[in-house]
Amino acid sequence: MSEVRVIWRGKRLNKRTVAMIEAAERLTEFEFDVMQGSYNRGGVSASAGTHDGGGAIDVRATELSAKERKAVVLALRKVGFAAWLRTPAQSDWPWHIHAIAVGDQDLSRGAAHQVKEYRRGRNGLANRGPDDGPPGYYRMTWEHYQRLRAANVPPQPISRPGVNTTISLGAMEIACQRDAMSGTWAADRAQVLAWASHPKIGAITRSEILPPSGTPWHQHFQRMTRKIQAKFGLPANGSFGPETAAVMERYGYTITS
Ligand SMILES: [Zn+2]
Repeated sequence: MSEVRVIWRGKRLNKRTVAMIEAAERLTEFEFDVMQGSYNRGGVSASAGTHDGGGAIDVRATELSAKERKAVVLALRKVGFAAWLRTPAQSDWPWHIHAIAVGDQDLSRGAAHQVKEYRRGRNGLANRGPDDGPPGYYRMTWEHYQRLRAANVPPQPISRPGVNTTISLGAMEIACQRDAMSGTWAADRAQVLAWASHPKIGAITRSEILPPSGTPWHQHFQRMTRKIQAKFGLPANGSFGPETAAVMERYGYTITS
């Protein structure tokens, strides 16, 4: 499978990337000046091959104010790009915003590497420095952004780099029934409880992350699930299903089957 290529505003891109740019422009309420698109092998040597495949764009930033530059980076991140402001001090290039569409099927190797670096909270440059942009959207994807849009929910800046933010529904079903579980499933259950006890959520207390002695894990998890459901106005049945998972999605978690 590969993306559908298009020429848009005179640049080679693909349909998915164009839809993402347009969504980001709706957030900033101004048009971006795309100075480099995708599928541009050998075009700009300073880009080090990251624009050879799909999903890559550079937005001209020389004429933008500091506030506008920041707004473009944030909007691109909110719709699922790994995006950074690049400065003339970093390399032989003008002020621009370099962005890679997370999950694009045509990413070059260099671009795919930058996505991984973004998710680790790094700047995507050869020096592997810390991310210098607005945090909070390291796990965002275009598909997830669209689901949030459909549900009329604004993206929430909560996910930190390096944190497990994928929860499996199948694992949660088993977590409500059994005590013995494999490593990843136990990790997902622990992640749900850690999230629920986060001060911003406050569905359970810190001490409720672990079951009291003598209480089996599955029973404890059912009780905590009821508390989460009550907190968010859901039927408190103690079964961690899609409705409960949807609440976590609003906070940047990815739910798998
Ligand atoms: Zn670039």
